[in-house]
Formats: sequence, C-alpha cells, structure tokens
Amino acid sequence: MRAVVQNDKSRAWVAKADDRGRARVAKADDRGRARVAKTDDRSRARIAKTAAATTALALAALLTGCAGDPAPAPAQGGPARPLDPRARQAAEHARLAAAARRWGLERTPLTPPAPPAEKPRITPRDGFEVDGQEEENLPPVFTTVPTRQKVVFLTIDDGAEKDPAFLRMMSELKVPYTAFLSNYVIEDDYGYFRRMQAQGVTLNNHTLTHPYLPGLSYEEQRDEICGMQTVMKKQFGKAPTVFRPPYGNYNGDTLRAAKECGIKYAPIWDEEVFVDHWEYRDWDRRLHPGDIVLTHFRGRDDWNGTMVDDMRNFLDKVTREGYAVARLEDYL
Ligand SMILES: [Zn+2]
Repeated sequence: MRAVVQNDKSRAWVAKADDRGRARVAKADDRGRARVAKTDDRSRARIAKTAAATTALALAALLTGCAGDPAPAPAQGGPARPLDPRARQAAEHARLAAAARRWGLERTPLTPPAPPAEKPRITPRDGFEVDGQEEENLPPVFTTVPTRQKVVFLTIDDGAEKDPAFLRMMSELKVPYTAFLSNYVIEDDYGYFRRMQAQGVTLNNHTLTHPYLPGLSYEEQRDEICGMQTVMKKQFGKAPTVFRPPYGNYNGDTLRAAKECGIKYAPIWDEEVFVDHWEYRDWDRRLHPGDIVLTHFRGRDDWNGTMVDDMRNFLDKVTREGYAVARLEDYL
C-alpha cells in the first residue's frame, strides 16, 4: 500500500513539473520583443516579459520557483499562442540547466539524438562468442552498440540501494538508463522499481540470486534466468528480452538457457563507474561511441557516497567528453 501511495505521489510530482514546464513563449513584434506567458494550474496567472534577451533566464527562474520578479503583469493581446519549436527548445534547455545546477553537475547533460530509424545489427563482441553462437542464433554478448553517434548507454545493476533522490535526479535531468535486477536484493521493495518503470526505465533480468552461472548446470542456470523472468512478469507486467549475466560471466549453457527463457540480447559493459573512479575494459581507457557503461545500485553502506554522487561522477565525465546518454532499448 505504501508503495502505491509513493508511486502516485511521484507521478503527481512529475505531472506538476510538466505543467510548470509548459510555459509559452510568443514573438511579440518586429522589435524583437518576446512575451512569455505561463499558465499555472492553480492561479491561471499570466506573466509577460518584454526583453527577448532575458527570456531564457526568466524561464529558468520561473521553473526553479525562484523568480526575482514577483509581480506578474496581466498579459495583453489575448491568449498565449503555441510555442514555436525554437522557443520550446530554449525553454527545455533552461529547465535542464537549472536541474543540472540543482544536482551539482559541472554542466548540463547533452540531449541524445533521436533513436535510429534503422536499428544497428548487434553481433557478439569479438572473442565473446560461444560454440554454436550463430548456428543456434544465441543472444549476443556485447559491450558496445555499433553507432557513430557520440552516445553512451547507462546500465545499473542488482538493486540493493533504493534511493528516492536518485529517482528524482534522473527524472529531472531526463537521463535514460536501463536496470538489471536480481530478485534477492529487490524483493523487499518491488514498488521502488515500479516507480522507476513508471518513469520510462526498462527493467531487465539479472537472475534470481546472482550466482556465478558457469559453475551451474544447464538446468540450474535456466531456473535462475527463467525464474527471474517469471518474477518480473508478475511484479512489473512483462518478461524482459534483455539479460545480463552476473559478473559478466557466462558459458554456452548460459546463452542457451537465456534464449529458452525468451532473451534476445546479453549486453555486458565496456566501462564501469563508481562514486570516485572509472574502470575500463579496453587498454585505451577511453569512452567510445556506443559504449555500455555499468554502475550499481549502491549507497553509503558500500561506497564512499550516494547514488546521486555516483551519477554526478558519471554525467560530469560523459558530458565533458561530448557524449550524450541514450536509451539502450532504442538501439536494440
Ligand atoms: Zn550484478
């Protein structure tokens, strides 16, 4: 019951933020004056601003609830007109910039390109295939999605830490990510992950109990993977098609069992980010277009910081190096 209430609250919060973001900007006259009008659900007050140059700042101030100009003047000249695309973009950028400052980021995360019209063909990373890979059409294990776009994909594993601030941060910053969940650490609070799912995050399979899969028989591996499929279908409404073997360890039986459980992809990762450092699979110790980045749902119990600190470490480097964070499922 508690989870449902929190879920509703969180949705209400998102809806309210959206309403606030639905500010409207209309070009006023040929002298370049802009009029900014904002419709508020409660007061229906309209605010007009005259200087085009201050539009973005004014919007940012409105959206953070710290407007320096407290006296909204009644708008003149009828109802606000629809926002033109450039103004809409500026308003959204101002909102994101304000959120980035609030969460202590060095700079505003970059907006990812539109999802590819044609999905890339995903093949196993060289050396990561198993016997029978192609003949049996087994799920590919890969660390990077083939793309030339400067995007990386954020994946977060296990599910031990359930930090509400993390959910707020990611939703305010609109950073997409994918969660790989293991039942033994999420079963005490499925509601947290339902809230995550309601924010558009895809929840994927990371086994029931997080074992070292190659040490298990085929049947045992199948029980771990199919068992988690059943849990996820029951708790989250659908069985995933994406699975990550614990520790990134697998053998032929793992991929065969995964396929039997309905899995199509087995992404692992090229970089791993922690609160205070990064680790790299490749010798060049760099991000590459399409890289999959791993981190974990961990907090102060395990790490020298929170999920929010971890995300700051992730986003600051990614943005500094000119990468946007894209949604993995958009490329699969
Ligand atoms: Zn794990």
